[in-house]
Amino acid sequence: MTAGRTALRLSLAGLALAAVVAGVRLAQPDPDIRETFFVFGTLVEIETRGVPEDKARAAIAKVGHRLQQIHHDWHAWRPGRLESLNAAIADGRAFTVDPALADLLREGRQLACASGGLFDPAIGRLIEVWGFHADTPPEGAAPPDAVLDALVARHPRMTDLRISGTEVRSDNPAVQLDLGAYAKGAALDLAAADLRAEGIENAVLNAGGGVQVIGRHDARPWRVAIRDPFQWGVVAAVSLHPDEALHTSGNYERFFDQGGVRFSHIIDPRSGRPMQGIVSVSVLDTSGARADAAATALSVAGPADWPKVAAAMGVHAVMMITDDGTIYATPAMKARLEPVDGGFPAPVHVVDLPTGVVSPDCP
Ligand code: ADP
Ligand code: MG
Repeated sequence: MTAGRTALRLSLAGLALAAVVAGVRLAQPDPDIRETFFVFGTLVEIETRGVPEDKARAAIAKVGHRLQQIHHDWHAWRPGRLESLNAAIADGRAFTVDPALADLLREGRQLACASGGLFDPAIGRLIEVWGFHADTPPEGAAPPDAVLDALVARHPRMTDLRISGTEVRSDNPAVQLDLGAYAKGAALDLAAADLRAEGIENAVLNAGGGVQVIGRHDARPWRVAIRDPFQWGVVAAVSLHPDEALHTSGNYERFFDQGGVRFSHIIDPRSGRPMQGIVSVSVLDTSGARADAAATALSVAGPADWPKVAAAMGVHAVMMITDDGTIYATPAMKARLEPVDGGFPAPVHVVDLPTGVVSPDCP
C-alpha cells in the first residue's frame, strides 16, 4: 500500500511538472484524509477518499466527537448512562435513557433473542466477576464455582428488558448490561451514517477487529485483511462492497490467563464459563451491530452449532477458525475470501447453512 502510494505520488509529481512546463493549471486530486481516535479500548481509524480536506476533517471531527460521547454513554463499568441504568435495574426501578441508547438496547434485545441467548449483553455481572471490567487483562484465580452457578441460576437475559420509548425497566434485577459484544459494530453503523449525512461518499472506518465502509476506494472496493490468530500475518483479504461491515471476535487479544491457560473474554451465558475451542469468528454483513453480535454468538455456539445460530440470526457470510487451526466458511464467505501471499494458511472447509431455520419468536 505504501509503495503504491509513493508510486502514485511520484507519478502525480511528474504530471504536475509537465503541466507547469506547458503552462496549464492542473487540478490536484483530493488527498486521503486519515484520523485516529482512542475509544472502546481500541484505536478507531477513519479514512476518507476523494473528499476535499476541509470537508473531510470537519466531518471526521464530528464523528470523533460522537464516538467519544458513545464511549462515555455506553461504558460498562465507568460512571455514565449505562452505569445509572444498571443501578436502576438492580433496584427494580425504571430509568429513562436517550433515544440512541434505547434503540441500541432494542436492537440488542432482538439479536440476543435471535441467537437463542448465546449473545446476551444482560450477563454483565458474569463478565465483571471474570475480571473483564478493567482496562488490563485479569490475572489470578478464576471465580468460585458457587459464585458463577448462582449468577447463571438467576438467568439474566435481554428479553427481561421492557423498553417503551426511552423508558427501560427489567423484570429481572439480575440483569446488568455490558454492551461490549456489539457496541463497536453499532457505533461504526452510527459513525458511517453520520459521515454519509455530512456528504462523505467514500470512507473506511477501522476499529481493531471491526471494519465498516462507505462507498469505494476509487474504481476498486475497499480491501481489508482478516488477521491470522496464530501468527503475525493474515488469513485472507476481503473486498468490501459499499456499506458492508466485517467483524471478527478473537480470543487472541483479551483473555484471562491462569497458570498459562487462556480463558476467553467471551462467556457462555448457559454455563457462566468462558467459551472454548474457537480462536476467531468473522462475520460479513450490511449491519455492523449484527455482524459484531453474531461473531460473539457463533464463538459461544461452537464448532457444531454455529451454522444453526448463524441462520437464526440471519447472517450468511461467516468464517470460523478452531483451536486446531481448521478454517470453516459458509459459501457466501468463501466466495469473498481472497488469498494473500499465494494461499490460505490452511484449507478452507465450506459449510452450508441449514435452510428453514425459524428465528425464535421474540416478545
Ligand atoms: P471483541 O471485544 O474482541 O471485539 P466481542 O465482540 O466478542 O470481542 O466482545 C466481547 C465482549 O463482549 C466481552 O469483553 C464482554 O464485555 C462481552 N461478552 C462476553 N461474552 C458475551 C456474551 N455471551 N454475550 C454478550 N456479550 C458478551
Ligand atoms: Mg462481537
